[in-house]
Amino acid sequence: MTDSFSNLSLAEPLARAVAEMGYESMTPIQAQAIPVVLTGKDVMGAAQTGTGKTAAFSLPLLQRLLKYENTSTSPARHPVRALVLLPTRELADQVAQQIKLYAKYTQMRSAVVFGGMDMKPQTLELKRGVEILVATPGRLLDHIEAKNAVLNQVEYVVLDEADRMLDIGFLPDLQRILSFLPKQRTTLLFSATFSPEIKRLAGSYLQDPITIEVARPNETASTVEQRFYSAQDDDKRRVVKAVLKERGIKQAFIFVNSKLGCARLARSLEREGLVTAALHGDKSQDERLKALEAFKKCEVDLLVCTDVAARGLDIKDVPAVFNFDVPFNAEDYVHRIGRTGRAGASGLAVTLVSPSDMRLVADIEKLIKTKLQVENYPLEEERSRANLSEGRREERRDDRREERRPERGFERRREEENPRDRRSSFRPAQVSRDPFFEKPYEAPNMEQAASASWEASPKTTASRTGISANIKPKRKVAALFKSGE
Ligand code: AMP
Repeated sequence: MTDSFSNLSLAEPLARAVAEMGYESMTPIQAQAIPVVLTGKDVMGAAQTGTGKTAAFSLPLLQRLLKYENTSTSPARHPVRALVLLPTRELADQVAQQIKLYAKYTQMRSAVVFGGMDMKPQTLELKRGVEILVATPGRLLDHIEAKNAVLNQVEYVVLDEADRMLDIGFLPDLQRILSFLPKQRTTLLFSATFSPEIKRLAGSYLQDPITIEVARPNETASTVEQRFYSAQDDDKRRVVKAVLKERGIKQAFIFVNSKLGCARLARSLEREGLVTAALHGDKSQDERLKALEAFKKCEVDLLVCTDVAARGLDIKDVPAVFNFDVPFNAEDYVHRIGRTGRAGASGLAVTLVSPSDMRLVADIEKLIKTKLQVENYPLEEERSRANLSEGRREERRDDRREERRPERGFERRREEENPRDRRSSFRPAQVSRDPFFEKPYEAPNMEQAASASWEASPKTTASRTGISANIKPKRKVAALFKSGE
């Protein structure tokens, strides 16, 4: 069997858009899911972002909606017929952009709504009428409540990255949104893994779904070199820099477990002359999109991010991923390192393990069914040269001074250590617009202070559990199901 798009008999405008995208053949999820979605059946698909899953659901969905295509200016002729729900703003934006490309030769209208942006332009777009609405749950509910979005003619709903939506605690929002939709509809659910919670969600909202699985869940690509280095919190940044230097790596993702940790690490790395951007939930939408664009254009070396902000982003072939914090959920490890070594390219995944993290490493071992070796990274030489204790004390004094005037500190070090001409639209001044960069850090409480341990004194290093106080524990979704049923 060949997996050419021409086998699908897609309508000419869709076939033309696909050809223009330069796709030569269908990816496995497309080859399996498109024919099923074309028949109108419910689908439960295990596929991660990067597998071509957006086209797998949007092409057949557009094909089936083409019968409604019209050029009328009346909003009534353009009701929402398909709803695509995603957990994060970046993902919603990314999927909406792709749908626009696939629909570009049709008259089908699509729009995206997510939080962190002014409601007004979104409202105007919704009021004009759109057939395909891409949304994050919270903002969609705002629009439903404001009567900007009416969903009683929805025929297709896509729950994309469903496992993530449950992790974030979106189940009650999803339940509310789904209650506004007609019972008679096609529901497509995509998730990286089929956890018991996902199966329950599917059991509640899908009818006789066809299950499609394209990659074994929790599989890590064999092209990724996985390294685990034991590192005290104070040493982690130095290990990151040493690995980057040793391997000649130009760009990397650095994952941390909390928003606070994300902002602080980005700031520290910036101060050390690395061109860095932070991606976390407290950043404005504009800042997040700019950071992503800058990283894609190689204007930023290091993207420090939290799991929620980075999940599923369509950034391929990142040479390296660092787990500055061992992820709290072992599944996040698989998602994080999936950013590198994609599509056959080799990649490096480095996890920095402090002594209290061993239980989390054991969880990863169990999940990926691989014995992991935690090695020592040789920083010793460097240590003795730097005359460790005095140097550290000096560094902290410098840090405090720098915090009072961060922008000048960034500029000076960048000139000294980063002579590359970037002509970047993503200047350090923009990084400093983050309120974190404009005022000295004040820990809201002692536990949070302890979590930022690479800058803390030895007395206040990480808690014994190794779990930052800033990490919200996973919501008990099973309990929510009970109340929602
Ligand atoms: P997705 O998993 O939907 O986020 O897609 C990941 C990337 O793969 C996007 O940049 C798509 O444009 C690209 N893509 C999707 N389908 C194909 C295909 N059949 N051939 C080549 N690239 C594709």
